[in-house]
Amino acid sequence: MTDEWYMLAEEERLFCDVLTRICAERIAPKAAETDETSAFVHDQLATLAEAGMLGANLPEAYGGSGISAPALLRAVAIVAGACGSTASALTAHYLATDSILIGGTETQKQEWLTRAATGEALGAFGLTEPTAGSDPADMKTRARRTDTGWHVKGTKCFISNAGVADFIVLYAVTDRRSDIAAFRPSFCPRARQALMPARRKRPWGSRAVMSSR
Ligand SMILES: Cc1cc2nc3c(=O)[nH]c(=O)nc-3n(C[C@H](O)[C@H](O)[C@H](O)COP(=O)(O)OP(=O)(O)OC[C@H]3O[C@@H](n4cnc5c(N)ncnc54)[C@H](O)[C@@H]3O)c2cc1C
Repeated sequence: MTDEWYMLAEEERLFCDVLTRICAERIAPKAAETDETSAFVHDQLATLAEAGMLGANLPEAYGGSGISAPALLRAVAIVAGACGSTASALTAHYLATDSILIGGTETQKQEWLTRAATGEALGAFGLTEPTAGSDPADMKTRARRTDTGWHVKGTKCFISNAGVADFIVLYAVTDRRSDIAAFRPSFCPRARQALMPARRKRPWGSRAVMSSR
């Protein structure tokens, strides 16, 4: 036990204990085969959704668990210990929903966060570009408002979940440099056509996290 464990509330420790059991019984046994086949972790995410993990980073007002940051850290470590690909898919989903929580409109929060918290909608987070990884300020992707939505031009890479996500939070430079455009590929067929599977295989342990560029 670490000091951090004693910072958790009683119900958070219970949450982590239940999660540990679920991961040991239903996620870890699939990890090696998942990595071998690179099959996306749909079943594992459904299991985590049942456990309340897909909204563990969100407040209760949007259907989340509202657990503390140390509890969330512990919970993600439990998932990562069972399956690296599942943890990558889960945390990419968190990056997408955290972005909406921080920068989205109330309408976007009501529409996407509540469904993301139950696992009904899976998110992807589109920040990295071929020449903008550690330094997103060098981002080249541009977004311009049109009468019907956004016109986006640019190239992204390493976008976990992108090929299967229900919505992608896409970071792009706009005139005002601070807008976040959240869109769903099924609403934007041109965007889905623009997603291509990554050519290179992921390292051992996270091969099942589908990435697109
Ligand atoms: C498994 C996986 C999943 C990913 N999923 C996503 C995703 O869902 N969405 C997304 O947007 N991105 C995703 N990424 C991309 C990831 O966030 C980037 O790889 C990361 O930001 C680093 O960018 P880069 O690869 O371009 O490396 P670079 O920025 O080119 O950095 C290369 C090296 O140089 C070092 N470096 C860079 N700048 C400096 C500096 N100023 N001083 C000192 N050292 C420096 C870095 O630490 C690193 O070691 C994913 C990556 C991986 C591996």
